[in-house]
Amino acid sequence: TSYQSVALIVGITGIVGSSLAEILPLPDTPGGPWKVYGLARRPRPAWNENHPIHYIQCDVSNTDETIAKLSPLTDITHIFYVSWMGSEECKVNAVMFQNIFDAVIPNAPNLKHICLQTGIKHYFGLFETDTKSEPHDSPFTEDLPRLNQPNFYHNLEDILYEETAKRGLTWSVHRPALIFGFSPCSMMNIVSTLSVYATICKHEKTPLVYPGTKASWNCYADAVDADLIAEHQIWTAVEPNAKNQVFNCNNGDVFKWKHIWKTLAEQFGVEMVGYEEGKEQVSLQEMMKDKGPVWDEIVKENKLVPTKLENIAAFWFADIAFMSENLLSSMNKNKEHGFVGFRNSQKSFVSCIDKMKAYKIIP
Ligand code: NAD
Repeated sequence: TSYQSVALIVGITGIVGSSLAEILPLPDTPGGPWKVYGLARRPRPAWNENHPIHYIQCDVSNTDETIAKLSPLTDITHIFYVSWMGSEECKVNAVMFQNIFDAVIPNAPNLKHICLQTGIKHYFGLFETDTKSEPHDSPFTEDLPRLNQPNFYHNLEDILYEETAKRGLTWSVHRPALIFGFSPCSMMNIVSTLSVYATICKHEKTPLVYPGTKASWNCYADAVDADLIAEHQIWTAVEPNAKNQVFNCNNGDVFKWKHIWKTLAEQFGVEMVGYEEGKEQVSLQEMMKDKGPVWDEIVKENKLVPTKLENIAAFWFADIAFMSENLLSSMNKNKEHGFVGFRNSQKSFVSCIDKMKAYKIIP
């Protein structure tokens, strides 16, 4: 095949990387046919093996290793950066991104466009921060100024702007809402986290109790399907009108956790208990801290793909989601620039569960 475009996906096993791995090689994907290199830190997981991509195992926080492994890839035209180190530490996250530029730019003369995925923490700050400057008021729009506090998203953007300006490359920054996706290797997958919680409740014959705050139970929330983010990034990669822009990315609708909770209980056949008046938030992380062996047992009993509880479930992340409110972001700029993709959030949530079941990640 002669390829029109050649992608390097950094973070191929992550929540959006795995959607890109599936969608980019399809014959009708815009800008294609695409040749795809996919990079991740760990060996290739079995569930990823069917995608027609060139898998590269590399620790991109290691400069020498990154240059050694990426400098032979002289045909890259597009970079999709959908990674983070798993902590909000600014310096190492910046080094990872810089290493990609240092390894690819001198060797890939046809490089054109770089997609950088950050997120809506741009508007309200990091989860772990000492400097509490006022968050922005929602709905968040892309033109809001940076908050006056450290955020690795600022470091990544600065590297992106500087490196692309030097080379006359185009760029796009993607700021997704909470992501609904499938990957069992993601460090923040809300759907797998809640599915594992529901599975453990079922196994222990306890009800699926909502552990969050009253406000988070009742307020409007938004999310984005990982496949839609992949479509969004591919759109910016090929559409001239989308170049050198920052875009939010959500499903284009709103939901309430109280409605998703009902869906979650139905999907796993457990009894649910919603928010109860007067109740304070209980930490799911705390509730689940001794459940590692229970998950091992569930995996064995149901002949699931082997996973460890601490890898497949980020209970700390659910704790944050269930104390959050007023985090909606605007999709107006996207529509004004011609991106009209959307998903039904309820259906997106269920389709991620269905996919994890089909791949035997959960029973
Ligand atoms: P993820 O945790 O799902 O995947 C991370 C990927 O990066 C994996 O493939 C992992 O192997 C790879 N990786 C990590 N460290 C590496 C290293 N040293 N070398 C090579 N590969 C490495 O990632 P994500 O959740 O898509 O996060 C990407 C960005 O999206 C982050 O800035 C995050 O804050 C943001 N975001 C995430 C969500 C969400 O719900 N997950 C929502 C909004 C924004």
